[in-house]
Amino acid sequence: MSKVALSKVVKKYGGLEVIHGVDLEIEKGEFVVFVGPSGCGKSTLLRMIAGLEGTSAGTIAIGTRDVTHIDPAKRGVAMVFQTYALYPHMTVRENMSFGLKMGGMNAAEIKTKVADAAKVLKLDTYLDRKPKALSGGQRQRVAIGRAIVRQPEVFLFDEPLSNLDAELRVQMRLEIARLHKELAATMIYVTHDQVEAMTLADKIVVLRDGRVEQVGTPIALYEDPVNLFVAQFIGSPRMNLFRARAEADGLLRLVDFADAVFAASISKSVPAGAEVLVGVRPEQFDNNGPVRISVQVDVVENLGGVSFAYAGVGHEAEPYCIELRGKSRPEGGTITIGIDPAAALYFDPATGLRLK
Ligand code: ADP
Ligand code: MG
Repeated sequence: MSKVALSKVVKKYGGLEVIHGVDLEIEKGEFVVFVGPSGCGKSTLLRMIAGLEGTSAGTIAIGTRDVTHIDPAKRGVAMVFQTYALYPHMTVRENMSFGLKMGGMNAAEIKTKVADAAKVLKLDTYLDRKPKALSGGQRQRVAIGRAIVRQPEVFLFDEPLSNLDAELRVQMRLEIARLHKELAATMIYVTHDQVEAMTLADKIVVLRDGRVEQVGTPIALYEDPVNLFVAQFIGSPRMNLFRARAEADGLLRLVDFADAVFAASISKSVPAGAEVLVGVRPEQFDNNGPVRISVQVDVVENLGGVSFAYAGVGHEAEPYCIELRGKSRPEGGTITIGIDPAAALYFDPATGLRLK
């Protein structure tokens, strides 16, 4: 049986419906990430699971219990927020003890629990400090510690790393992954950052406008997206899209490039004249790819181990992005690149749906 189950969950603010019937099953011990653009409903859904927002329709179950209308404190969840929400006048120890004390736990037990959590989080030497004497990363660890001591059935994180600088974010990301392993806990984590989603999740839930677009492992979403939205949201830099048109003989012709005609690797036949979008990730261009195209490179971003060449910068359409590796990388001018039709993904531009 799943640990958390949402069934036809709806959220309305007055007359405005923002979550439109979400079904979702989360297994015990799973690390599930809700990802999607700002405003798509990630926090709302998480807060509904926590009980901080009411549920307008549908049901939420945690373990064997229907918790849809149960008090947040009785749901067996603990939430970690983007703003750490620590008590500034309390030490780390007091911050971590506070909830347990309020719950009436005895002092000896609290002491053990706080010491255990501090050890897991490497906060042992900071227990007597106040939050203002801690770095952002340490503060967030205290906030996580406060959740750990409660030994919740489910941990809920709402963009916990967004207030940290880039370096700390990477460090804390690894910490959270380690914590998940060590605690073997069920975790639901909200982020708008697809890199965080890809690196942390056992299972990613891609949300758009209050609906689930796709649920799957990071690799499944990367390799087998159901539609354009998921294909472009997962993967960085994002997937390139080439406009193509079906010819009478069933072949596809790229609209913006001369002599790029090939058989698409899709089983469904596309009627002559129909438009198709051909998706190629920046890392999927292939020097030996049979479809040859030439592009004028406008900008090269050299990151050291890898460079990204951009073509068509400043045009109305999004520029093409090509990943370059190895010793001799072009710095500009016209380059010829290859596409392997078998590695490309195909989409119907009218519906955005993947053609297979
Ligand atoms: P995300 O966390 O994905 O950025 P939210 O869950 O915060 O998105 O918001 C989802 C949608 O619900 C947004 O359109 C937002 O404007 C709306 N919303 C959130 N809270 C309220 C509220 N208290 N009243 C009305 N609309 C809200
Ligand atoms: Mg949010």
